Amino acid sequence: MAEIIDGKKLAAKIKESVRQETSKMEKKPGLAVILAGDDQASSVYVKNKEKDALEVGFHSEVHRLAADTSEGDIIALIDKINADDNIHGILVKLPLPKGINEDRVTNRVLSEKDVDGFTYANAGKLMTGNDGLTACTPAGCIEMIESAGVDITGKNAVVIGRSNIVGKPMALLLLQRHATVTICHSRTKNLAETAAKADILVAAIGRAKMIGPEYVKEGAVVIDVGMNRDENGKLCGDVDYEAVKDKTSFITPVPGGVGPMTRALLLKNTLKAYKTLEK
Ligand code: NDP
Repeated sequence: MAEIIDGKKLAAKIKESVRQETSKMEKKPGLAVILAGDDQASSVYVKNKEKDALEVGFHSEVHRLAADTSEGDIIALIDKINADDNIHGILVKLPLPKGINEDRVTNRVLSEKDVDGFTYANAGKLMTGNDGLTACTPAGCIEMIESAGVDITGKNAVVIGRSNIVGKPMALLLLQRHATVTICHSRTKNLAETAAKADILVAAIGRAKMIGPEYVKEGAVVIDVGMNRDENGKLCGDVDYEAVKDKTSFITPVPGGVGPMTRALLLKNTLKAYKTLEK
C-alpha cells in the first residue's frame, strides 16, 4: 500500500522551525526578490514568496521592474542589494524579459546570498561535494525522500530531466547520498524500461501525467516534480498519480508535494545564508 509523502505538512513543519529560530533573532534575515516584467504567473509566484517570508518573520523586499528594464539596470540593482547588510538572500525571478542574459544576471548575485542556488559557484560546490546553497526544488525532494525514512545509499535512482535547476542538481544530491544514479532526458532510448529499474524515480519533465505504471517498479519511491495543467485545466504532475500510486511504496502528490517544499526550502536557504553572513 502506497504511502503519500505530504509535502504541505512537511513544508509547514520546516516553516515553523524557521519561524521559531527567527523569532529569537534581534536582526532579522532579509530576502529580496527581483521581478522584471508583468508576467501574471511570475507575479503570483513572487507574492507567495513575499507572504512566506513575512510569515516566518523575515524582512522582505520585492523589487518590481518594468519589462523594458535594461540588463545594466538589473545588474546595478543586484550590486546594490549584494552590498546591503540587511539582505541575506536574493532571488531573481526567471524567466527575465527577452534580450537579457539570464546567466550573467543570476551570476551577479553574491554566492553567499544566492538562495536559489543558481550561481556557478553554488552549482560548482554541489558538483564537488562542498557545502553551499542548493537549488530549492531538488533540496526539497531530498528532504521528502529522507522524511519517509528511505535509505538512499545503494539504491538505483533514476532522474528524468536534466535541467540546471532540477534534474542535474537532483541527480548530484542523490549521488552525494550514495545512490547509483541514471539521468534520462528527451533523447533517452527505452525510457520506460530504464525508469522501471528505479528504486527511487524522480520525474522532472513538464509533461502532464506522462509517467504511467510501465515506468514504475513495484515498491518504488516516486517523486513528482512536474507542474502541469491537465485536459481540464487542473494542476497535475508528470506522474499519472491514480494509475501509478498502488505500485509505489511512497509517492508525492501534485498539488501538495514538491511545490510547497520548494517554497519552504527558500526560507531554509535564506536562514542558512543569514548564518553564513552574520557569523
Ligand atoms: P525543463 O523544461 O528545463 O527540463 C525538462 C527536462 O525534461 C529536460 O531535460 C528534457 O529533456 C526532459 N524531457 C522533456 N520531454 C521529455 C520526454 N518526453 N521524455 C524524457 N525526458 C523529457 O524543465 P524544469 O526542469 O525547469 O522543470 C520540469 C518540471 O518541473 C516542469 O513541469 C516544471 O513546471 C516543474 N517544476 C516544479 C517546481 C516545483 O516547485 N514543484 C520547480 C521547478 C520546476 P532535454 O534536456 O533532452 O530537452
